[in-house]
Amino acid sequence: MRPRGKLEYGDQATPLRTCVGCRVRTVSSELLRLVAVEGVIVPDLRRRLHGRGASLHPSLSCLELAERRRVFPRAFRAAGPLDPSPVRAHLEGLHSERNG
Ligand SMILES: [Zn+2]
Repeated sequence: MRPRGKLEYGDQATPLRTCVGCRVRTVSSELLRLVAVEGVIVPDLRRRLHGRGASLHPSLSCLELAERRRVFPRAFRAAGPLDPSPVRAHLEGLHSERNG
């Protein structure tokens, strides 16, 4: 029998990402992928946008943590300020749906 250790915790089966807000490592499928496009941070809902991405829990508190810590310019290697309002709008939409 050949050892098949890679199947356990294989990084391809369950890729882990760190939430830029709360810094918790989670499977990437539970995190929202964010991409910076021309100075604006947008949620990459279909995971199809190219470029440097960042991962965030789909939660406003994690977005606020990320903003307070100013992690976005570093995460996206941007020189100037980034506008996260599309992400905020997306998260607010998620929450209002959930609450009825
Ligand atoms: Zn988080």
